[in-house]
Formats: sequence, structure tokens, C-alpha cells
Amino acid sequence: RVPVSALLQRPADAIGRAQQAPHAKIPLPADLFAPERRNSRGVEFGERAALDGLLTDVKAAAAELKPVADATPDQANAAVTTARAGFTAWSRTPAGTRAAALEQAAHLLEARSARFIALLQAEGGKTLDDALSELREAADFCRYYAAQGRKLFGNDAAMPGPTGESNVLSLRGRGVFVAISPWNFPLAIFLGQVTAALMAGNSVVAKPAEQTPRIAREAVALLHEAGIPRSALHLVTGDGRIGGVLTAHPDVAGVVFTGSTEVARQINRTLAAKDGPIVPLIAETGGINAMIADATALPEQVADDVVTSAFRSAGQRCSALRLLFVQEDVADRMIEMIAGAARELKIGDPADVATHVGPVIDDEAKQRLDTHIARMKREARMHFAGTAPDGCFVAPHIFELKEAGQLTEEVFGPILHVARYRAENLARVLESIARTGYGLTLGIHSRIDDTIEAIVDRVQVGNIYVNRNMIGAVVGVQPFGGSGLSGTGPKAGGPHYLARFATEQTVTINT
Ligand code: NAP
Repeated sequence: RVPVSALLQRPADAIGRAQQAPHAKIPLPADLFAPERRNSRGVEFGERAALDGLLTDVKAAAAELKPVADATPDQANAAVTTARAGFTAWSRTPAGTRAAALEQAAHLLEARSARFIALLQAEGGKTLDDALSELREAADFCRYYAAQGRKLFGNDAAMPGPTGESNVLSLRGRGVFVAISPWNFPLAIFLGQVTAALMAGNSVVAKPAEQTPRIAREAVALLHEAGIPRSALHLVTGDGRIGGVLTAHPDVAGVVFTGSTEVARQINRTLAAKDGPIVPLIAETGGINAMIADATALPEQVADDVVTSAFRSAGQRCSALRLLFVQEDVADRMIEMIAGAARELKIGDPADVATHVGPVIDDEAKQRLDTHIARMKREARMHFAGTAPDGCFVAPHIFELKEAGQLTEEVFGPILHVARYRAENLARVLESIARTGYGLTLGIHSRIDDTIEAIVDRVQVGNIYVNRNMIGAVVGVQPFGGSGLSGTGPKAGGPHYLARFATEQTVTINT
């Protein structure tokens, strides 16, 4: 039987591409990079035998999954108090030791891939393709933050001494960081936040989404096993109310949050209402992400990239395409091709390797999306409606809007909105994108360099993808995160991320 680890290896072409990426300024080990996987199916991940073996292991692991009880407010408060006590020892642990624990965590994640894939499928409804990508991303975060942390925290910086004094600048942990994460990347985002905060020398209290506590519990157990002391890392499960208890605690020194813009605002208000030190909030939130396809774009490529960007992961990615602007001259043909490509998608059981689109996260999400579809059927022109099995599934839909302003909020599911534009009105397209207030991802499909440059120059968007799909940012290569209503920065998986979890100290010695 081919070992499961074969499935996790990065294909040579993807590694090459990642290392040649313009953003990859820092040389890092080749196996750090997750491959960009366009239009991939489970069967592409390796040998058929390895896949069969993995599926058997996944089934066995899924049968063992146990429920997790919610924490009480007293337990949440106690977790912060204990983390406060654990902070001193952890912040004094050498950066190299902290980094080694994260590297060991990456290794354990890969060694237990079947178990985590089972969890991602059972609790997160992930297709095999998505679960494997997420596992890779989680391991990449651990290794990337370890590599960054060794550089940033391992060496104090000697500053100039023009006055004859010696000056040294160092970065150190802030104290207790509360890490609040969403359900849509319950392993990668959860671990990305937690490992960054730990690497920077903070102790951490982590609150996962209420829908995905089992993944979080196993991820925390894995980090403890990898060498993170129990006093430095605590898990608190429960819904948003328990998140509110944590953020209101007086001993919290920082909050890292990924989720909706609305909840980020609530957390901001909670932090602002507290007496005591000003508590920093790192918030990574949603988006009304657009793509612009002009008449010079390659229609087949646009169709492929639109379907991947809008419907993969059932549209439950913060980066997913929501609003496609297509130039009037080619609109009919392009919409027809996109609908044709969407028709090929298989919707259903995520455990089936042939499935492209799995379930949405829960009944509440399905109801919200069904309500939006019903509204769009009244207010827009429907070009495509897929068919979904019974249960928590939402079929991909394509609606053409009368005007882009009809879409006023993030619709977190497999629903694509299309708006036509005339070439002379490109400026109006950019204005409508700006008017949303969000700035997370943007796709551009064009063969005219001047058009691409003009768009890139004028939009305030965190991640722009040209002539490709707009999902699946690679850790260490495509640092990810937005601005405006989409978040505060810094970018996850980027070189400036860890420093925001730390305080800076300058020591001046009169020698
Ligand atoms: P959400 O409803 O905002 O929840 C996110 C987390 O916040 C959950 O753990 C939630 O707990 C918790 N929470 C809710 N109310 C809270 C409060 N008052 N105080 C403290 N914590 C509170 O988001 P979601 O539905 O899980 O995730 C989808 C959203 O995340 C989308 O908007 C998506 O765009 C965004 N997202 C952004 C990024 C990015 O990098 N920019 C990445 C992924 C997802 P419960 O859920 O248990 O109530």
C-alpha cells in the first residue's frame, strides 16, 4: 500500500511555481509551499492505491469522533487566568524552542492526515480535495511562522549608537491572546491564528466556531503533544456568547479574530468599553469579491476560473467570487460558457471523491442562502440553477443583476452574481467595487497590460489575481487579507504578520 504521506507531497511543478512567484522573497524549504490546485479532483492527489488507503483510514477515523461539551463562562474566565499565569514562562522560552514545537506540530499533522481529513469531512463538510488543501495549508502555517519567528524573535536588533550608547530593539509577547476563528477553515485558520500568537511569545485562549469544536480540540491536543505547554494554550468551546466573555476579560492583551465584519465590530466595541490598557484587535473579515472580465479575456479560462472561484467549497470561502463584471460585447457567450461549466459540477456527499461541491455548513446557512436565491429569482435574471440532493445542500446558481448595487452584503454560498459593463464605463465598475466598502479579493481577466495596471492602481483590495482563479492563497507566497470592511491587516501567511502579535522593547545602555 502506498503511504498516505505520498498524498501530501507537493508536486514538483507546484513547488517550482511557488518559488518563482514574485512575492517569494524569502528562500524557504521547498516543502513549505502548498501547491496551487486548479480544478483538481481527489483522484489527482496521488496514486489510486494511496487514495484508497486514505479513504479507508478516513472512514475508520470518522467512526470514532466524539462530541465536545460547551465551556461555561466560569471555565472561560478560568482559562484566561491560567493562561495569564502561563505567559511568563512561555514568553521566556527561546524562540528556537517555540519554533521547534510548531515544526513538530506540522510533522504530526501530516502523520495524522487521515484523522484530520475525517474530522474536516465529518464536521466541516469538506470534500477530499478541500480537506487535503486545508491540511497542507495548516502545516504550511506552522512551518512558515516557525521560520519567520526564528528570524524575528531569535535575534535582537542592534540599533545605531550615534550618542555613544548601545541600543537594542527586541520583540516580545504581549500577554494572553484570545484567538477566535470561523467554521469555514476550522483547521488552517484555527492553527494559523494560534501558532502565530504562540510563536510571538503570547499565551493563547482559542475559541473555535460552535460548528467545529472537535477539529479544534484535536488540533490543540496535537500542539500540546508537539511541545506547547498546557499552561500556554487553552481551548474554550461554545458559541459567540462565550467569545464575548473572553474578549471582555480584563487580562486579555490582544485579540485575533477571523469571521464576519459584524462580529468584528462587536468585538471592537467590547474591547473599547473596557477600562485598562488599549487592547489591539487583528480582524480578518468578509468581502463582496468581484472579478472583471473584458473582451480580450480567454473565454474558456474565464469559465474555468469563475466556476472554481465561485463554487468550490460551496462558495464558503472568504475569498470566493460573488460578483462578476463582464464586458457587454462578450457577455452572452461568456455567461453561457460559465453556465455550461457549472452544469458539470457534481454536488453531494463530500466523502465521495468525485464530488466537487459539498454541503453548506448548517440549516441556518441553507435557509439564509435559499432566501437570497428566492429574492434573486424575483429581482434578477436567472441563467443557471444546479440541482442539489436533499439535506444541507445548496445548488450553484447564476443570476444577472440589473445593476451591481443590488448586491449589498456578502452572500456566503455558491451563488454567482453577474453584471454587464460597457468598455467605456470601466471607471464605473471600479466605483461600484469601492462603494461596497470591502477590499478582500479581486479577479481580473484581460490581455491588455494597461487595463490590468489601471485597475490594480485604482482599487483598494488586499489580494488581486490576474488571469487565474481567485482562491487558495499560498502561505509565504501570497500573503492574505483585506482592507476596509474586510479587515485590519496584517496579512496572514505574510512576513509582517507575527510582529503585530508582539510588543517592541528598546533598551539603551550608557556604556
Ligand atoms: P462569524 O459568525 O463572525 O463567527 C466567527 C467567530 O466569532 C465564531 O467563533 C463565533 O462563534 C464568534 N463570535 C460570534 N459572536 C461573537 C462575539 N460577540 N464575541 C466574540 N466572538 C463571537 O463568522 P463565521 O460564520 O464563523 O465565518 C464566516 C465569515 O468569516 C465570513 O464573513 C467570511 O468572509 C469570514 N472569513 C474571513 C476570512 C479572512 O481571512 N478574511 C477567512 C475566513 C472567513 P460562534 O460561531 O460559535 O457563534
